[in-house]
Amino acid sequence: MRRLLLALPFALLPLAALAAEHSHEHDHAHDHAEHSSLDAHEHGAAQLNVVLDGKVLELQLESPAMNLVGFEHAAKSDADKAKVAAARSQLEQPQPLFGLNAGDCQISKQELESPLFAEHKHEEHHDHDSEHSDIHAHYTLDCQKPEELKQLNLGELFKRFPATEKIQVQLIGPNGQQGMELTPAQPTLSF
Ligand SMILES: [Zn+2]
Repeated sequence: MRRLLLALPFALLPLAALAAEHSHEHDHAHDHAEHSSLDAHEHGAAQLNVVLDGKVLELQLESPAMNLVGFEHAAKSDADKAKVAAARSQLEQPQPLFGLNAGDCQISKQELESPLFAEHKHEEHHDHDSEHSDIHAHYTLDCQKPEELKQLNLGELFKRFPATEKIQVQLIGPNGQQGMELTPAQPTLSF
């Protein structure tokens, strides 16, 4: 039941193991329909959890690699390796990606995980055409002026990663919990 664990906010999971289970043919959604938004690895869709607690802002993005890199196999060619490196370098700058230009926030911790980022080839997970790979990004920021954080704005993320069509956002902030699907046409959510 690893997929249930996916629903836990900020659970840190071994993505290499999860990627092996991802399948577009997965048809057991009825078994846990309550988690349907997290159940499928759907190209074009991603999930983002955001928690603002005092001065600590945490963001956790879970996306099919397809949305961010354009493929999901291990990068072997120089061109593919360059695409992975470019996506990674964008993901290393969460403030512009998530529109966090207020609040005086500094990154205190960041983790980027994906089978595509692995130093060594995980051949057991990449030998099959049907394999899918995710990219997981987890950021912790310390914000000196959290009251000035008015909204999340994913416009830049959608612009830089145009294969991303929609992001299901769960946000917990001073005004409680909100869930919303953000798109290029509606990229913002207030804290
Ligand atoms: Zn996929």
